[in-house]
Amino acid sequence: MTSPQPAAPVAPAPAVVELRQAGLTYPGPPPVHALAPCDLVVERGEFLTVVGPSGAGKSTFLNIVGLLDAPTIGSYLLDGVDTGTLRDADRTALRAQRIGFVFQAFHLLPHRTAWENVALALVYRGSGRAERRARAREALDRVGLGHRADALPTTLSGGERQRVAIARALVGAPSLLLCDEPTGNLDTTTAGSILELVDELHRDGMTVVVITHDPAVAARGDRSVAIRDGVLSELVRP
Ligand code: ADP
Repeated sequence: MTSPQPAAPVAPAPAVVELRQAGLTYPGPPPVHALAPCDLVVERGEFLTVVGPSGAGKSTFLNIVGLLDAPTIGSYLLDGVDTGTLRDADRTALRAQRIGFVFQAFHLLPHRTAWENVALALVYRGSGRAERRARAREALDRVGLGHRADALPTTLSGGERQRVAIARALVGAPSLLLCDEPTGNLDTTTAGSILELVDELHRDGMTVVVITHDPAVAARGDRSVAIRDGVLSELVRP
């Protein structure tokens, strides 16, 4: 008889986002210190908002976290992968697999239907057309737009277009939903319904980062950080 082996310790899942003294200076001349070295951890399932006025460094932060730019100092780990060690092609692949982007401008192709716009996000995954179509329809159902799957973007309202963009961001099952002013082009009521959808995705377990200049949007997250003059700091809620 062998005695039972103790269970192997389960390694904790890595944080989705981990910035370690990561910062970015544009070379200039003159050099612009757009993001001072900062530490930030976003755990799986968290909903973080990043707030700051225009010119504060929000796009710089977005570009780093979205793997569009590498920090010029420090390191950035996405799902535990040290992105500083990756070649360009591997960074691009990691970005496509792990990050779903939602922008203020919806960036939909006007001559493609809603489901085709969503399915395009899967083209580089090697899935066939039938599978892409099925997954795109599922993602559109998820955002409450299954009934408009065959509609062209020009026939959709602003809020519906943003739902298509969110479906496109979700269809590849990313680790992180990264939203840049997601309600910036919408009226207040429509903006509210998009923020409710984001809340719902978060309640279902999605890790969400929303970047905004709007304190009302920032208040939706579990936690907020502010960026001012390139300096990121944790915001203490009243
Ligand atoms: P925000 O998104 O909050 O408006 P940005 O991240 O775009 O702020 O900009 C932060 C600072 O970096 C600003 O002072 C801006 O002028 C500067 N900046 C942005 N992009 C560049 C660039 N490519 N080269 C030099 N400076 C830049």
